[in-house]
Amino acid sequence: LATAACGEEKTLKVGIENNFRPFTYTESGENKGFEVELWSAVADKANIKYELVPMEHSEINQAVKSGKVDLAIAGMTVNKARKDNFAFSDPYFQTGLVLLTAADNDEIKSKDDLAQKLVGTEAGSTAYIYASSIKDVKEVRGYSDISEAYDKLSNKTLDAVIFDERNAHDYLQNDGKGKVKMVGEVLNQESYAIIMKKKSKYLGRINNGIEAVGKNGTYETLYAKWFGS
Ligand code: GLN
Repeated sequence: LATAACGEEKTLKVGIENNFRPFTYTESGENKGFEVELWSAVADKANIKYELVPMEHSEINQAVKSGKVDLAIAGMTVNKARKDNFAFSDPYFQTGLVLLTAADNDEIKSKDDLAQKLVGTEAGSTAYIYASSIKDVKEVRGYSDISEAYDKLSNKTLDAVIFDERNAHDYLQNDGKGKVKMVGEVLNQESYAIIMKKKSKYLGRINNGIEAVGKNGTYETLYAKWFGS
């Protein structure tokens, strides 16, 4: 009997980041990005109804923990500390961290040139952890909005920024064009996955959804749209 009482499933609250281009971002009140579209396709396959809840990166873990959101898709890198506290879906994106300097900086050519330098990144990010592990760095500053770190690099308040490769690339090609450059190798291999509470009953369905959008060509289409083929 398909009544509301026995058949209806709740509408999930899905956390996204408000400024993590080109994955999830909010522009003129609209939620956009590769992950917004990927999630829409996965949710469709998994038969999940949802509404998006944009927030800052540093708020996401707490929001999942407290149940303010049921899960989050927001460039969340899988790491040991997070795995101790949360469940992750299968990863859907392989990437890494990169180093940015001012366009005319000829002193910093790799992470080995960061002794006594001021490095900026996003608070609570894996890049923050990575930057803090570099020997002899003067200080690592974490900003709740990565745009602030990019602005401070452009006006030379910071010597360098370390952050997620694709987001840094987006800044380099748009607002940061001519002001900053990427130097050195990719610093740390990372994969993004959907984060949720341990024992979430949605994990299996979401993984099946991710697999399905990989097989039916949707993933490839979205990848080409947002990152070029
Ligand atoms: N990938 C980084 C992390 O998981 C940053 C993510 C983000 O800003 N959305 O910490």
